[in-house]
Amino acid sequence: MEWINPMPKIELHAHLNGSIRDSTLLELGRVLGEKGVIVFSDVEDVIRKNDRSLPEVFKLFDLIHVITTDHQTVTRITREVVEDFALENVVYLELRTTPKRNDSIGMSKRSYMEAVIEGLRSISKVDIDFVTASSNFQEPHNACDGIQRKKIYVRLLLSIDRRETTESAIETVKLALEMRNVGVVGIDLSGNPLVGEWSTFLPALQMAKDNDLHITLHCGEVPNPKEIQSMLDFKPHRIGHACFFKDDDWEKLKLFKIPVEICLSSNIITKSISSIDIHHFADLYNAKHPLIICTDDFGVFSTTLSNEYALAVRSFGLSKRETFALARSAIEATFADDEVKQQLMLRFDSASPEFV
Ligand code: 5GP
Repeated sequence: MEWINPMPKIELHAHLNGSIRDSTLLELGRVLGEKGVIVFSDVEDVIRKNDRSLPEVFKLFDLIHVITTDHQTVTRITREVVEDFALENVVYLELRTTPKRNDSIGMSKRSYMEAVIEGLRSISKVDIDFVTASSNFQEPHNACDGIQRKKIYVRLLLSIDRRETTESAIETVKLALEMRNVGVVGIDLSGNPLVGEWSTFLPALQMAKDNDLHITLHCGEVPNPKEIQSMLDFKPHRIGHACFFKDDDWEKLKLFKIPVEICLSSNIITKSISSIDIHHFADLYNAKHPLIICTDDFGVFSTTLSNEYALAVRSFGLSKRETFALARSAIEATFADDEVKQQLMLRFDSASPEFV
């Protein structure tokens, strides 16, 4: 399936700190180990483990955050993550991250996000557009070896962690509103689904919606029928996962036509879905419900977006033409403005002769 890597792709569900290269994480962990901040062998064990339950994944994130949460590292991992996606021909990326405050190192949610933006600005290996409403791209220029440079649109979603208070969630939404001119297009609700109450986040999410930010929610990662129904009633612009939906949840999702971000490897590795052949991808795909194949955390789950498409092709028997149409259909589910959507259509259409 060599054709999947060159195919243009759209990534809409990628967490920054879950998408760090293993090599970077090990390098950073070794340095902190030498300084005595962490025990490096513990880090190595966790990083190299490739089968984790959902609660174990959240323990791993706490460890990753100890290793990565300083301004310089946030800038570095942002650059690397975007480059990695661009190199596998992701043409539009919505990257999400939780703005973090850490007084001991002078980090505020704003300075954390400024470090992310600095990472975007520092990208030179590929052409990047991350400013909403106007294209940054120059005329396509060719690298000295004659190969056309990769181009990627990047937009940002600020995540609210389910451990946060209402006040802290509102602070994130206000920050998102102030950062619209540097590509922030929406809000995500994520973090350990066994923690926190929907009612805590609702005021912040409502404020975001009232101010025309787009919303995506991690929904149905664990069995929680009441929360799933409340989330669907809120009518988010997209949801992620939907692993523990019951009939009435599917009915509502379809009625409201809410696109679903599908993260196959993540769902299987965390055992949220017991086997790929019973994954809800098939039902949604057959019902022509909008769905988008995504990685979730390509570092943590040792995958790539091309790999996720290959898994879908192998598991559900998609043809090349169907796979290309699926990748292209993600344009509609992006939180980009119409001009960017038009540009993306042109990109897909110019690639289409190879795939149809
Ligand atoms: P960050 O926001 O720090 O850049 O990315 C890591 C964070 O994303 C984790 O601490 C967690 O809050 C969130 N996250 C990553 N993967 C998942 C997932 O599969 N489910 C949920 N609910 N949250 C996730």
